[in-house]
Amino acid sequence: MTRESGPEQPAAIESRILEVPAAGDTGTGIPITVIRGSRPGPVLALIAGNHGYEYPPILALQRLRGQIDPAELSGRIVMVHTANMPSFLGRTVYFSPVDGKNLNRVYPGRIDGTVSERIAYAITKEVIEPADYVLDLHCGDGNEWLRPYVYQNVTGNAAMDHSIARLVMAFGIDHVVVDRDRPTDPARSLYCSTTAITSGKPAMTVESGSMGMSDEESVERIVNGVHGVLRELRMKEHGPEPLPQAVYLDPTAVVTSPETGILYSQVECDQTVPKGALLAHITDFFGKTIAEVRSPLDGLVLYIVATPPITKGQPVACVGVPRSSPRL
Ligand SMILES: [Zn+2]
Repeated sequence: MTRESGPEQPAAIESRILEVPAAGDTGTGIPITVIRGSRPGPVLALIAGNHGYEYPPILALQRLRGQIDPAELSGRIVMVHTANMPSFLGRTVYFSPVDGKNLNRVYPGRIDGTVSERIAYAITKEVIEPADYVLDLHCGDGNEWLRPYVYQNVTGNAAMDHSIARLVMAFGIDHVVVDRDRPTDPARSLYCSTTAITSGKPAMTVESGSMGMSDEESVERIVNGVHGVLRELRMKEHGPEPLPQAVYLDPTAVVTSPETGILYSQVECDQTVPKGALLAHITDFFGKTIAEVRSPLDGLVLYIVATPPITKGQPVACVGVPRSSPRL
């Protein structure tokens, strides 16, 4: 599992732009930093900005770049500072302003695709393939009010599942969404973290922050989580201890909108709701209520869309049933 970084290369921090050339639509650049440690060890990829309106991960990687001393590092860290530059600079939620695609649904990408697909292809080839472990860093998007949590994929492969669970506990966010429904075909992995997992590399997706904010608490939670993972992988000697216990959300349900219109959310994130509770109602553009969205289960609201625009079929909320261990 562990790839040794070459002893011939000195410890160093190097940053560059990974170019995604124009092809049919506009090109872009992906800012990348490689921190090469002074001793052999695993390669850890940290990816921020698959969604360009999600700022705490992007700010956390800038902070980590200044904190990690290559002389005290074993192995190598590869940071993608802002994966989706068109969406970041265009300030768009979910979708690229260039091709209308959700970057975190087009992995592993295509060399001859649209710009989102070419970004995914470049990250798959240049960042995920050379890595041993991958953390895909997100938060609630600009419209999502979200409590911090992580996704723990369950694959059925005991060794892989154990390694993913180790990453989760080491990262230190104590609410864990158990996800058994991710793709298994590496050619149709769709998600960034699933691209890693279907290639045999333990990975997790982190959610810390929401609503287009850049709050210190959400940034620092990611910084601390990465330090915890570095310690767990023995890439650094010191770091936060792993969690002793987590709250597992299993099952979870993403509730989508039955209508297009104006959304009025009726609950807060992190609120406990009974099955059937009104999560939101939707009006037409004149104010008449045209739909209600209710919770399909007794659980905890992990996120709720909290801005007015809503399109039929898009997520309104995610509700999960808390328990002390994942269901067997
Ligand atoms: Zn995201």
